[in-house]
Amino acid sequence: RKRVVRISTGSKQFDSILGGGFQSMSISEVFGEFRCGKTQLSHTMSVIAQLPTELGGANGKVAYIDTEGTFRPERIAQIAERYGVDPEATQENIAYARALNSEHQLELLNTLSREFAGGAFRLLVIDSIMNCFRVDYCGRGELADRQQKLNQFLMKLAHMAEEFNVCVLMVSIIIPVHALHAVGLAYNACQTNQVQSDPGASSLFAGADGRKPVGGHVLAHASTTRVLLRKGRGEERVAKIQDSPDCPEREAIYIITNGGIND
Ligand code: ADP
Ligand code: MG
Repeated sequence: RKRVVRISTGSKQFDSILGGGFQSMSISEVFGEFRCGKTQLSHTMSVIAQLPTELGGANGKVAYIDTEGTFRPERIAQIAERYGVDPEATQENIAYARALNSEHQLELLNTLSREFAGGAFRLLVIDSIMNCFRVDYCGRGELADRQQKLNQFLMKLAHMAEEFNVCVLMVSIIIPVHALHAVGLAYNACQTNQVQSDPGASSLFAGADGRKPVGGHVLAHASTTRVLLRKGRGEERVAKIQDSPDCPEREAIYIITNGGIND
């Protein structure tokens, strides 16, 4: 029988609200606005997953699906140095793939399934889940198609997590409402329409914190654990558990350093 493993975030406080780190055999979603540290967390965990369990790792290889072009091998090397492990070997243990569009993103899972069958992989990062989908399915009329394809992708992900005892770390973004209305600023009109027409998005956050997630209810229901990241005071960042089968909705403060996520 496979045993669930936990992978550290790099921050003791963050780990403690998760009950020790993000778990294998399920999907975890981290979501938040720009620059709150989603990509930095993805990099940090890509290093830690390779470490022995005593150091919060899972002795495993890592697969990294990058849809935004923000993966930086140099950051991996810097984080490896923090943990005293060989930077090059650490980089080589990360199977990196740039997803070019949503079809390709789905195909990558099939390729990875074959690799995961070897049993060496413990972490799969997707940074970020919706980027290709919202570009490929741009018009309002295409929303149903998009959600169907997205659902297919998420079901495959959940299956892989369980079958191969892998921790899936799925990054998604939320867009501040003021940006939704400021057409032509951070987002083009196409993406703005996409978000505003997302069913479920408005009911999920219903004005509670003035933000709307991209991906709506299909995305929110796919993950077992959901963590909201946001900026705090100064350099501080805040992680808040939104949804978890076994952890209360607590908050933790973390920072981003040269060595990755830390306390
Ligand atoms: P997101 O993916 O949520 O948009 P990122 O994970 O890219 O955000 O985090 C961006 C933040 O990380 C920026 O505030 C940036 O200053 C910080 N950052 C990036 N590299 C380093 C580093 N080497 N040392 C400290 N902070 C860093
Ligand atoms: Mg990012």
